[in-house]
Amino acid sequence: QKLTFDEFITHWASERPDTVVLEEGDDAITYSEFERRSRKIVGMLKGRGVEKGDRIAWLGKNARHYFELFYSAARMGVVMVPIGWRLAAPEVAYILQDTGAKILFLGEGFEDMAARAVSELTEKPELIGQVDAIAAIDKAEEAQFDPAGPDDAVLQLYTSGTTGNPKGAVLTNRNLFSLRIPSQEEGQPWSLFDEDEAILVCMPCAHIGGTGLGVMAMGAGIRSIVQAEFTPDGVLDGFEQGITRLFIVPAALQMVVQHPRAKTTDMSAVKYVLYGAAPIPLDLLREAVRTIPEAGFLQCYGMTETTGTIAALPPEDHSLEGNERMKSCGKAVAGVELKVIGEDGEELPRGEVGELICKSPSNMACYWNLPDATESSLKDGWMHTGDAAYVDEDGYVFIQDRIKDMIISGGENVYPAQVESAIYGHPSVGEVAVIGVPDDTWGEAVKACVVPKPGTQVDEADIIAWTSERLAKFKVPKSIDVIEVMPRNASGKILRKDLRAPYWEGRD
Ligand code: ATP
Ligand code: MG
Repeated sequence: QKLTFDEFITHWASERPDTVVLEEGDDAITYSEFERRSRKIVGMLKGRGVEKGDRIAWLGKNARHYFELFYSAARMGVVMVPIGWRLAAPEVAYILQDTGAKILFLGEGFEDMAARAVSELTEKPELIGQVDAIAAIDKAEEAQFDPAGPDDAVLQLYTSGTTGNPKGAVLTNRNLFSLRIPSQEEGQPWSLFDEDEAILVCMPCAHIGGTGLGVMAMGAGIRSIVQAEFTPDGVLDGFEQGITRLFIVPAALQMVVQHPRAKTTDMSAVKYVLYGAAPIPLDLLREAVRTIPEAGFLQCYGMTETTGTIAALPPEDHSLEGNERMKSCGKAVAGVELKVIGEDGEELPRGEVGELICKSPSNMACYWNLPDATESSLKDGWMHTGDAAYVDEDGYVFIQDRIKDMIISGGENVYPAQVESAIYGHPSVGEVAVIGVPDDTWGEAVKACVVPKPGTQVDEADIIAWTSERLAKFKVPKSIDVIEVMPRNASGKILRKDLRAPYWEGRD
């Protein structure tokens, strides 16, 4: 079984020499061309003193150039650290400092940001802009190297920072490929690929939903179509260009299906729409299934620390009639074991809510520079997800929400995601986030923060009444805040901690 970049690149270069590996706009490179080019990239890196085990970083939007650098560095066991391009200079500086990257490669237009970030550092990485990097690669000699093995680190991804500071998850070749290659596993037809398939990479490369898709395409020997960043038009264009798969987060899926062009775009080539990374409101999911009827929908549940998907809800569970299963994020994918544990670490029976933990060949090697966090999160090889969930008799996982976001109101546990899903169906609600705020009677009270749909007004009493019809009384918000913009991070996740902060100032 092939498990390393070096093995896949060599294999596909000989098996599918003329298949495109990476495409961006009008530029494309085939597997055989890339095999040679990647030796030059290795030559360029070696010429700058970069060796196995070193870190290099990327600051920029998605680019074919980034993927070429990453795949090539990975062949020789140099660790790529893609940095989110929406981060502020001090956040970029923090990651550079944390990783000690030798070189910071820049996407077009990131020179100023990089200069600001680096100015704070005592040990500065070499900065190389895209034009210079490409010129240096063109000039470099194809180099010999010792290929990295399955357990060598090749990628360091920072978590989204939804619940606290981002942590650097160190991922190996094995982590990246063990679940991300075509497999004949029963019940997972979606893990098989035809040679002429094309995957759209439009989520940010600093997240597993961006870079991981490129890796999936590499494992399957197919084409990645790289877009600099997500736009609903870009996805709809991608559909018209015949992409067969994509991954997007729920917030992005909403923009695509509610776009006026969605009604007229030919989407017949799409085989699978992969979505996940955050809870999805049921009404949005139904709308998406209706809008892209030919596609198989696949919900993905996972985290940076598990190299992405560890559970998936298959297309057949996306029927528009029965909806119980549609509230699940699916079953463990082949090769993954899932358990739900109680507060003392004991395994809980099916149906009981506790912390979801996971054993998988895709579990990260460690958090970079955080031995304590690594030890508490990766006990005995089981990754502790921090998500509250239960598993039903058939093995379907129902994520309730993050344990940290659970609201305890009058002694009852309220999971914001469930309340959000109920409120989302209200005709005047565009976006919604539910938080707990201090309350003298209840300890915490449920509050909903709502962004109205354009052209509508949100009425507090009306939303409360709507929710009362759908949920138990203790889950119904006691108050509503109307807000203009939903705070989200670069992965499109709602930053409930930002909404909570003003209410908890000086307490907690
Ligand atoms: P941080 O760990 O820095 O707070 P984060 O947890 O958002 O940020 P990621 O690794 O990008 O960083 O996200 C993983 C989390 O996303 C999971 O633990 C889970 O809470 C959520 N998630 C992922 N997929 C799904 C899904 N299909 N449904 C609901 N939640 C999901
Ligand atoms: Mg997390």
